[in-house]
Amino acid sequence: MNNNFDWSKYLKIESDKVKALTLAFDAKIIFAMGLMLVRGKRGFRKLDYEYAEKELNAKEIMDKLEECHFNVLGLVIKDTDGACMWDTEFGWNPIDRDILGEFCDAGKDRNIKIMASFTSMNDAYQGVIHPERVSIHGTTGKKSGIHYKKGDISTHDEGEMRIDLPKGMLFNDYKKKIPFLTEKIDEKKGKSRGARGKGYIPTTSFMCPNSKHVDYLLDLTKEVVKNYPVSGFFADYIRYDGAFTDLCCCDRCREIFSKNFGKKARILKSDEWYDFKSNTITKYAQKLQSVIKKTNQKCTSGWFCLPGPKNMFSLKRLGQDWTKLSSILDVASPMEYPYLMGTRDDGWYWRKVGDLFYWYFMRNMKRRIHEFQSPVLAVTNSVECNSEEMLKQMRGFNFGMGIAVFKYYGTTDAQWIALKEYAENEIGLENLK
Ligand SMILES: [Zn+2]
Repeated sequence: MNNNFDWSKYLKIESDKVKALTLAFDAKIIFAMGLMLVRGKRGFRKLDYEYAEKELNAKEIMDKLEECHFNVLGLVIKDTDGACMWDTEFGWNPIDRDILGEFCDAGKDRNIKIMASFTSMNDAYQGVIHPERVSIHGTTGKKSGIHYKKGDISTHDEGEMRIDLPKGMLFNDYKKKIPFLTEKIDEKKGKSRGARGKGYIPTTSFMCPNSKHVDYLLDLTKEVVKNYPVSGFFADYIRYDGAFTDLCCCDRCREIFSKNFGKKARILKSDEWYDFKSNTITKYAQKLQSVIKKTNQKCTSGWFCLPGPKNMFSLKRLGQDWTKLSSILDVASPMEYPYLMGTRDDGWYWRKVGDLFYWYFMRNMKRRIHEFQSPVLAVTNSVECNSEEMLKQMRGFNFGMGIAVFKYYGTTDAQWIALKEYAENEIGLENLK
């Protein structure tokens, strides 16, 4: 392959782990496109159930992916809102459609496998119907305009997604369907790249990873892996909320903490507390792995992580121990989105920002790649950057297994052409089968 950074001297993975993966996806190299089902047809800053229910066309999407030689579709079957995009007995599906089923059917006639992405701890709907399972703040403070008190549940205004009322729908009627809707509204697009949404502001919740929310997630996992022919089941938000450092201080967590680390161990900001956080997330990964493998041995398990410093960020804030998590789950998937931070198309300043993040993300991976004990499949962005930046990221962050691109809606015509040519000229079509 051309122009790829050679990660093989950094990442040493047993060949049987790689083989299991290529077997599950039935291809030497993975070329995946991500699709967020509930975020409408443009970027990813809208929550749009109407589009998912009435307009999204599975066959058309699969045709497009096939034309551009993608062999895996990464389907976000449960996003941070909590909606379950399949025929579910245990979960909440606000639309009258089994979208996962439709994509699985459409994939059968094509060389396209389905990889399900499953948001775990962040769940707006569960936050409203089960406030007793939401994380609890351990301190009083203020963060990005959000005031919170010690003992409050961590349900806050959503930073990214906004909602428009469907035509002819009254707010109160829609709130009955979408209970995490608030009357607050963003009239203008925000200045920063992270605040481009417009519309009603929903709330969002990070659930307590020691609550019954975990059992709920495991029931959903079993249901999906059992009822649908998915080749991969990847956990997203398999972590604590990165925005706050004082979660979760509920009675359950305090009790487990002092039972495991002794009554004298300090809650928050102690090494014991950070160990407790990463142990909690690791325990969830173990449960997830055993449910997936018991249900379908051939289904590949995976997890998403964010680049950043190991101690300050991954371990202390998020509770993600990369070594432990990658020893348990089959594939690690770092989210490498440097040009989501800034693109040349928005002017020279944003180009500098994007380039700086690219440099940082590469350096971060070089330093941390040895922590992974499994194959690594990075996901990078096509949305909100140009073709050149997209290709640079795809080449840079191919850790030997291939690359996943985020996301279908928001990819420009020029990028689709570039993706097709990348598959033909750089991956080689013989490697995608
Ligand atoms: Zn808790």
